[in-house]
Amino acid sequence: MSYLKKQDQEIFDAIQNETKRQQEGMELIASENYASAAVMEAMGSVFTNKYSEGYPRKRYYGGQEFVDTVEELAIDRAKQLFAAEHVNVQCYSGSPANLAVYLALLQPGDKVMGLSLAHGGHLTHGHPLSFSGKLYNVVAYEVEKDTERIDMDKVREIALREKPKMLIAGFSAYSRDMDWRGFKEIADEVGAITFADIAHIAGLIAGKQLENPVPIFDVVSTTTHKTLRGPRGAMLMCKQEFAQAIDKAVFPGVQGGPHDHITAAKAVAFREALQPEFAAYAKQVIANAQALAASLAKNAFRIISGGTDNHLMLIDLTSKGLTGKEAETALETCGITVNKNMIPFDERKPLDPSGIRLGTPAITTRGMKEKEMELIAGWINRALENHTHEAALAHIRAEVKEFCLRFPIPTPKNNIENGE
Ligand SMILES: *Cc1c(COP(=O)(O)O)cnc(C)c1O
Repeated sequence: MSYLKKQDQEIFDAIQNETKRQQEGMELIASENYASAAVMEAMGSVFTNKYSEGYPRKRYYGGQEFVDTVEELAIDRAKQLFAAEHVNVQCYSGSPANLAVYLALLQPGDKVMGLSLAHGGHLTHGHPLSFSGKLYNVVAYEVEKDTERIDMDKVREIALREKPKMLIAGFSAYSRDMDWRGFKEIADEVGAITFADIAHIAGLIAGKQLENPVPIFDVVSTTTHKTLRGPRGAMLMCKQEFAQAIDKAVFPGVQGGPHDHITAAKAVAFREALQPEFAAYAKQVIANAQALAASLAKNAFRIISGGTDNHLMLIDLTSKGLTGKEAETALETCGITVNKNMIPFDERKPLDPSGIRLGTPAITTRGMKEKEMELIAGWINRALENHTHEAALAHIRAEVKEFCLRFPIPTPKNNIENGE
């Protein structure tokens, strides 16, 4: 970064500091990951200079020869990865991608049914503060109090009563397998469009560890930067019959020019995800999450629903005598990054909830395996037991740093690919 260093010391320093923070810290935020150096090179390329409103071979600007190559490669690779009939790779991020789905398939005021945010759903699945809750008529389903899982009989009961126009299946904080076929059957019974949001688990699906809803559902959205390990961005996949409506909703519906440098990086990430190493990574992400949950349970942490089938887990800290916010702060002091999170039926407030959410994609990309999960659970336990003891936390921080430096993150200087 010699140009940046010469030209803008402040931003250069911030990037250096963030690099150091990422190298020395333990990243347990379930939605984060490390993109490869190849993905970052594509993001930093000259495609950032281009305007290309429209779609391949149908653009509103000239000079599209190489942009079209890039976008077509991204589409072809995504189709192959998810067995999709139609793909739109232009979506800026997960939330605008979801906005485009609503715009394409519904009228304002139509009824949608999704998992409530407080039970693991996403803001864009009908939360009152999101466009989805403001413009549409929302009915939510929740997890069950005893099992802390989605009960498909309950979903069916609500759907039969409410007759939503669109049934949404997807989550940001739910650790159990989704019954895609069950959702599809229910939707068919009430004539609803099926919309799956696989933002969190796309990498685990691409890596063939979780069932793929793309062949089952009408429309599927995903971010590209979470378990899928690409650039920040999103895409939409759908059946051919919705292709035109979806494309029109993305452009000109909610977006202008696509971010071609990001499209290039998406194509690079999809190629990586098609390699056998990526399936091994996806498998290890889940093995690590299960090992971490088991080790935490051994230390008397209560895991919501008793465990995990994917990359994430929710921990109820009530019995440990501290809140999610206190835990997040104590862990951050130790160089362990997590996010506080509401747990189902939480009696506390979103800014200081009862739980934390942990995920293993980032640490798996660094090459950590089951035996490292035991160490991490030990640090988390020690940090939370000593959350008011500064010296103890500083001691843990030093151990975490020394440990993390043994598992380098991908940077252009230090290129590790596919978690090796
Ligand atoms: C992360 C996420 C999104 C939104 O993605 P952004 O890129 O942050 O807008 C949408 N849906 C789900 C389920 C997510 O987890």
